[in-house]
Amino acid sequence: MNSKELFKESKKYLPGGVDSPVRAFKPNPFFVERAKGSKIWDVDGNLYIDHCLAYGPLILGHCNSKIIEDVYKQIQNGSSYGAPTENEITLAKMVIGRVPCAEMVRFVNSGTEATMSAIRLARGYTQKNKIIKFSGSYHGAHDYVLVKSGSGAATLPDSLGIPEDTTKNTLSVPFNDQTALSNLIAREKDEIAAIIVEPVMGNIGCVEPKEGFLEFLREITEKNNIILIFDEVITGFRLSVGGAQTHYSVTPDLVTFGKILGGGYPIGAFAGKRELMEMIAPSGSVYQAGTFNGNPVSVAAGISALNQLDHSFYNELNKKGDYLRNQISETIYNLDLNLQTVGLSSMFQIYFNENPILNYEDAKKSDTEKFLVYFRELMKNGVFIPPSQFECNFISNAHNYEDLEKVVIAIENSLKIAW
Ligand code: PLP
Repeated sequence: MNSKELFKESKKYLPGGVDSPVRAFKPNPFFVERAKGSKIWDVDGNLYIDHCLAYGPLILGHCNSKIIEDVYKQIQNGSSYGAPTENEITLAKMVIGRVPCAEMVRFVNSGTEATMSAIRLARGYTQKNKIIKFSGSYHGAHDYVLVKSGSGAATLPDSLGIPEDTTKNTLSVPFNDQTALSNLIAREKDEIAAIIVEPVMGNIGCVEPKEGFLEFLREITEKNNIILIFDEVITGFRLSVGGAQTHYSVTPDLVTFGKILGGGYPIGAFAGKRELMEMIAPSGSVYQAGTFNGNPVSVAAGISALNQLDHSFYNELNKKGDYLRNQISETIYNLDLNLQTVGLSSMFQIYFNENPILNYEDAKKSDTEKFLVYFRELMKNGVFIPPSQFECNFISNAHNYEDLEKVVIAIENSLKIAW
């Protein structure tokens, strides 16, 4: 069956034909046959240079040979034990050695579980209920954080099935807006347990914090007995050895991880100061548990991945990011367009918008219809990116300069048609 036929078949058995909504792009998603390095092949015989990279985990590209070797060794010894392993200590030490705020770690299975547990911990520690997130930020698919972004509707649930009672404690303000946040905290400060922030907003495209914004978050949370949580599910082990907190030199109280930490296998984690982390069960009374927590296969893959991610790795990868963003900007300039090329390190995106983007309120004004034309044209030109203006594109070390040159030509061809 080809992708079109498989999608028709799939819709009979899987809601919407997929297992996660963003995968169901129109007219139909391609079904994957295999992937290797920087490339992904569909069942229809097409080859794409992959800048989706499974939405972020694959910083080492598909089928990294060392990870395959280490996972293979592990699966011969078992897939899951329900009992601790030495490798969990090894991976925890690697995280603690790299990430400034991490003094202890709990491994879970997804970014969603990580943020849900970190928020519970912040509430348990502070004995307060409310949390602040930034409009447009995504922290997973659990009830506390699925809150409609934007002005008046800021605390309404984003999905059926979430009681308003759950989300009434989730407040949102625009990213990069110190005044809005100061006013909110002045009103609610005795009730706010935590601020959770994606240090770089990777779920509205790619928006960096304004200079001083993360420092401001650190200061205002410290002053008001609020726990600062960096959600580094995307930026962790992506921006640098120590993630966004090292890149921007701001240390939060808690951090959440997923994606890269599992070397391409399912994982999540939260980490932070010992005083907080020791409140987690069984050493403390904030409950957290999971059948697959610390899964030996994911942990083996994670150790294998982090072993490869040293400073020189990021130097090389970030050079590729700079090269690609510069080439895209030049292309846009030569086409006499006024679109925004954004990103840092190995993250990039083009906003179909003539104005600079500081937050979701700005990003929403982008031309999403034209973006979708661009996305489809890129596929025709052999490049796969996430099918949304509000996602980020990634580069892996498996992408070589020849790939990137082809991508620039594909972008030029696609922009000519889309804009
Ligand atoms: N936090 C951020 C910043 C994310 O980007 C995501 C997923 O994309 C999550 C949390 C949720 O992670 P997961 O999909 O592993 O549950």
